[in-house]
Amino acid sequence: LYVVLGGSQYEAIARQVAGSDRQRMIATAILLLVLAAFGAGAWLFSYLTRRLRLLTGEVSAFTASRFDAGSPVAAADRPRDEIDQLRNACHYMADTIQQQLSALQEDDRLRRELVTNVSHDLRTPLASMQGYIETLIIKDDALDAGTRKQYLEIARRHATHLNRLIQGLLELAILDSRSVTPEFEHFPLPELIHDVVQEFRLQATEANVTLEVDPPDESVSVYADISLIQRVLENLVGNALKYTPAGGKVSISVERSAAAVGVSVADTGPGIAEEALPHIFDRFYRADERQDRADSSMGLGLAITRRILELHSSKISVVSKARQGTRFHFDLPVAARAA
Ligand code: ADP
Repeated sequence: LYVVLGGSQYEAIARQVAGSDRQRMIATAILLLVLAAFGAGAWLFSYLTRRLRLLTGEVSAFTASRFDAGSPVAAADRPRDEIDQLRNACHYMADTIQQQLSALQEDDRLRRELVTNVSHDLRTPLASMQGYIETLIIKDDALDAGTRKQYLEIARRHATHLNRLIQGLLELAILDSRSVTPEFEHFPLPELIHDVVQEFRLQATEANVTLEVDPPDESVSVYADISLIQRVLENLVGNALKYTPAGGKVSISVERSAAAVGVSVADTGPGIAEEALPHIFDRFYRADERQDRADSSMGLGLAITRRILELHSSKISVVSKARQGTRFHFDLPVAARAA
């Protein structure tokens, strides 16, 4: 009786089977490893490009909105890497594009408004002048000397108004064009105020309005463009006298602080309505539309004043109460600002 427990053939087969199992296991393990590496790679790639995809989406949405989207590309608060830096650069670019676009749209709106206002303001006195001159030509013999003189006087008034309107527009256009640079110099402000007061003295006396300066300190010197500041004072004092009724008062006051000199022009006139206050510095704005346009109201004086003060890095402010009066205030530097 033979019991074959393990022949050489059996052992060879068993070795072969065990070897191929190991090979399969190794192959499976390699395959699993490759799959895991591929999966991890794909996840890592998706993770790394996720922020880029987000940014691309935001930039595309901004472009699709024709650069008008509310807040197109959010900035990264604390940039950690190049992607955050790219995001911040895109945010800055989008912001700049939006600002420039709105500035262009605003310029366009103002230009249209200006053309409408200018054509209206030029057409009205021109049409009136034309009417009176044509009447004078056609009815020459039928008009008596007094009427003829009256018509000529009206035509002259309109011509003067047109001249002033064109001058005002030209002045604003020059001030708006960046070509104007104020000629800064040190000069005594009270002397300039004194000259302006002299200019308006006769008009104030005729209108029975008190015109005074408070206090007439001779030692205050400012650093500004003397002829432009003269224009500002003329506009403010001229307006104050124009709107203050007989018996009223116009006062110019000067207050000195460490770095600036404050100038105020106050009157006891009718004041400006609260709803009109935010607009009085807009060109062609008149608080009271019934104002006599043919005479001196153009709505340009305060726009010119504000522009001149902007060129001095200064701002004009106004406080006004109905039936109590109006006070305009601005500051001027006492010395050149350090660059
Ligand atoms: P205008 O040529 O009409 O005076 P401005 O630009 O100088 O133009 O002023 C704009 C408007 O502001 C005026 O039409 C007037 O209604 C109002 N205003 C300006 N200054 C005064 C003032 N001192 N008192 C009352 N209203 C004023």
